[in-house]
Amino acid sequence: MHSFPEPIEKTLKELSRLPGVGKKSAMRILYHLLKSGGSAIEDLEGALKLLRENIEKCRTCRGYKEKGSDCPICGDPKRDPGLLCVVESTQDLHLIDGTSAFNGSYFVLHGLLSPFKGIGPEALGLDEFRERLENEAVSEVIIATPYTAEGEATSSYLITITEEKGIKASRIGMGIPIGSDLSFVDPETLSRALSGRREVK
Ligand SMILES: [Zn+2]
Repeated sequence: MHSFPEPIEKTLKELSRLPGVGKKSAMRILYHLLKSGGSAIEDLEGALKLLRENIEKCRTCRGYKEKGSDCPICGDPKRDPGLLCVVESTQDLHLIDGTSAFNGSYFVLHGLLSPFKGIGPEALGLDEFRERLENEAVSEVIIATPYTAEGEATSSYLITITEEKGIKASRIGMGIPIGSDLSFVDPETLSRALSGRREVK
């Protein structure tokens, strides 16, 4: 089999590990970078360096923010501090925030409970979640985890914690297909799912 020079081989390997990038796309990206005569590689290097050095997780919502700056979500005084929406990922946070059907604060889990993958409550920062319920004036927790087995298990766990603190818990519903990821839901359906959320008891 034809083999590539090592630097190409290595880059292809790293690129194909990225989500949504198959072997073919990895090849396209690689040749685009090489063809640019170095400038595209330099720009990408610079951006990745900034990403590595200047981005950190916000201690409150666990979303990403620039180091040394206020979190654009938690530092926004126009948001309703009583509403707290729990999402699986930062992508979901942006999907929901993009609908303008929700103007509260967030908590990002960065995953879902999964005994098979060894992901427990600590990995999802659920102690921090509990602390927020204790220290902030939260009146409703809106759970926006997906309708998959792991999403449902995580939701039940979140409902238990929320109700223990005497706070109302609701689950986004309507129009979110079973077994689906939020990224497959169009913004309008997502808006309706948010306004049509049901209280869970
Ligand atoms: Zn934040």
